[in-house]
Amino acid sequence: MHEITMETIIALCKRRGFVFPGSEIYGGLQGFYDYGPLGVEMKNNLKGLWWSEMTKKHDHIVGIDGAIITNPKVWEASGHVTSFADPLIECKQCHHRFKADDVPGITSCPDCGGVMTEPRMFNTLVSTEIGVIEGETTHTYLRGEACQTIYLNYKNVLDSTHLKVPFGICQIGKAFRNEVTPGNFLFRQREFEQWDLQWFCHPSQMEQWFSYWKDERMNWYKTIFTHPEHLRFYEHEKLAHYAKKAFDIEYTASPVGKEMEGIHWRGDWDLSRHSKYSGENLTYTDPETQETFIPQIIETSGGVDRTFLFLLLDAYTEEGDRIVLKLNPKISPYKIAVFPLLRNKPELVTKAQEIYRGLRNELAVAWDDRGNIGKRYYSQDEIGTPYCVTIDFQTLEDKTVTIRNRDTMRQERISEHAILTYLKDHHVY
Ligand code: ATP
Repeated sequence: MHEITMETIIALCKRRGFVFPGSEIYGGLQGFYDYGPLGVEMKNNLKGLWWSEMTKKHDHIVGIDGAIITNPKVWEASGHVTSFADPLIECKQCHHRFKADDVPGITSCPDCGGVMTEPRMFNTLVSTEIGVIEGETTHTYLRGEACQTIYLNYKNVLDSTHLKVPFGICQIGKAFRNEVTPGNFLFRQREFEQWDLQWFCHPSQMEQWFSYWKDERMNWYKTIFTHPEHLRFYEHEKLAHYAKKAFDIEYTASPVGKEMEGIHWRGDWDLSRHSKYSGENLTYTDPETQETFIPQIIETSGGVDRTFLFLLLDAYTEEGDRIVLKLNPKISPYKIAVFPLLRNKPELVTKAQEIYRGLRNELAVAWDDRGNIGKRYYSQDEIGTPYCVTIDFQTLEDKTVTIRNRDTMRQERISEHAILTYLKDHHVY
């Protein structure tokens, strides 16, 4: 078990351009972060893998990209507005909230023993005003969870595609919460990104699909983590009244919270509520059996930023004076780095540039001609680049290059024309 502190990861993220504190020159804003040049590449790789896993590999799933701002009634129907009308106290450790009236005078959390906040009116939705004329604006909210736009479009998707129940709609998008206690870097932010699947099925098929999605999601996470043994399920005991079961996928080696994704039995709660509040009929009629019913929903809702953070924690390794991010190559910001052996030999630089430009058409490539080769290797190791190629005098003679593996540090000579095939064979892209 490797113990990596959050400070180590925060420092690496700042030093190498993965993540910067938001509005830093103004002293920052708690719970907001900006992704830097390497961070955005890594995050895009991660989201690309999720998207392709969910949409391309499943016949009955399509995606949407919903608006961040919706009609405010959505949040009344979802229960977010009304459920925040009572003064609540929150555990500073596990963040469970309780109505102050239900647990008068308690100072430590009934669930985990953590310290409780003072009673407060919580509304975790972030408010905003739409309109330009003072006094004529509409008060609404930035979405508190991405899933609501999926429910709102369930009929549109069915009407515009050939899909039939069971089917799924997925989405990657921003969510905003006025978290009472933001902190722990990307773990608890006020603006963050979620990846959601909402799976619609017949009530009689809920058990079977729930267990299918629970396994699928865990298996997928296992393919992207360096140490899949650090992933486990946590089964919820306290359930929402409509839920029959709920599991979290947790990253157990996290020095802060562990939850990465929730797999939730939502039943017909969401569609029934939206049907009631909007007055629209959201039932589905099976074209074969003519049975009319409200489809039930299984949700898999994960945090992109939390996954990003846990992947960094999981990949971070110190070997003597070498820091290596042993990231899955498919997630690494760069797939390969190209170096001329010496920067003051124009023939080497020209050849290296030619190889660099050729590779750049296909994948993300880093270029480095500073310092000595050893320093360049270490610099790439620290950002997770799985391979480095060096162009030397032998390259000019026989068109071979040295290719060096990040994790084993072993070097091989291969043909300059075989670099892409080599990377493909080694599952880099
Ligand atoms: P928590 O109990 O940690 O507050 P949650 O149970 O409220 O999380 P969900 O509403 O189920 O979270 O959201 C799904 C996923 O979104 C979570 O598993 C997590 O990965 C991510 N997420 C939720 N809140 C935040 C946040 N404030 N910052 C970053 N990611 C978050």
